Amino acid sequence: MIIVFIVLREDTLTPRNRLVTHYLTLGIKKAASIATRALATGKPHHAQWLITRKCNYRCAGCNVWKEQDPRELETAEIKKGLDILKKIGIVDLVLSGGEPLLRDDIGEILDYASRFFVTTVCDNGSMAAQKIESLRNVDFVAISIDSLDEAKNDSIKNVPGAWKKAMEAVESLHNEGISVSVTPTISQKNLYEMIDITNYFTQKGVPVWYCLYSYDVSMDEKQLFRIGKANDEFVIKDKQGMINLCNSLIKMKKKNKTILMTNKLLKTVRSLYNEDGRTWKCKALSNFLVVDHLGRIAGCHGHNSAGSIFDLPKNWDSQEFKQLRETYRNCTQCNYLCYVFYSLQGSPSGYFSLALDQWKNAKVLFK
Ligand code: SF4
Ligand code: SF4
Repeated sequence: MIIVFIVLREDTLTPRNRLVTHYLTLGIKKAASIATRALATGKPHHAQWLITRKCNYRCAGCNVWKEQDPRELETAEIKKGLDILKKIGIVDLVLSGGEPLLRDDIGEILDYASRFFVTTVCDNGSMAAQKIESLRNVDFVAISIDSLDEAKNDSIKNVPGAWKKAMEAVESLHNEGISVSVTPTISQKNLYEMIDITNYFTQKGVPVWYCLYSYDVSMDEKQLFRIGKANDEFVIKDKQGMINLCNSLIKMKKKNKTILMTNKLLKTVRSLYNEDGRTWKCKALSNFLVVDHLGRIAGCHGHNSAGSIFDLPKNWDSQEFKQLRETYRNCTQCNYLCYVFYSLQGSPSGYFSLALDQWKNAKVLFK
């Protein structure tokens, strides 16, 4: 690729080649910058930014839609915050909400973020097909589909037509060459469907990542924001069923390159449901942090704000943050899967084991 840059003079490039060289340059710069940050120790590597608190769905296991807030940061403030996240070492960024694609400036935000981070944007399935041009540069678009059964999916989302829209979005994005993945939330409602869901999408070349139903146990007024709502129908009661699912996915991963969950994470989840229990220490505010729609940060959404993103570089090594990290290390309040994943794999050694786990998926991940 480097030879191409040396041989082709700017004035000899066709518009298409100019575009290609632009993206190649961006790709090389981004890869080099990401590698440098990924190898740095004592830095957070993952951030989840809930860029809006607006949502057009009413999911049965979620609190966000009930507690919407029209306020959000301006585009320029988001870009400033992204510069700060890059400075403190973030490699991997997830933009979610609410429904992040409801923001009019989402294309501009994603283009900016994708220059520096491995960027994922979440969509409940309602918006992606209408925003294809905004999604061209993003590394992953994660579409939430909880069942292959249309009626069941729509009852979980609490919106008629949700399934149809989400399935069409996956197909459109896949056909457009955009890296789309499907992210079902595993709960008692769909536990026995997970293998079918996995086979259905991965056989079409669409990778699958999972969320695990969890809810905010404390419902503390001081927590940064609330996501998961306690719903008895969703709580996984069949522990052996969950262990069997983890075992099956570990086995399937040997042949199936598009199951993105790592063996390490699957084994950790399996332990949660057998007699071993919780086998990890939470690395909130060490390996990862969250940012809310107003730019407030915290180790995770279940605890009080630790200040503004705009104060971050100077606060990161403060005594207050050190104490908070110690508290979070001993916290056992949630099993949100992304927090478990980044506690396990959001460090240089974690990235090494992630690379080993996912090397067969390189073609999928870097297409
Ligand atoms: S789970 Fe997502 S899409 Fe569903 S109501 Fe909550 S924020 Fe909206
Ligand atoms: S276990 Fe970690 S991520 Fe979960 S509430 Fe506690 S500090 Fe937050």
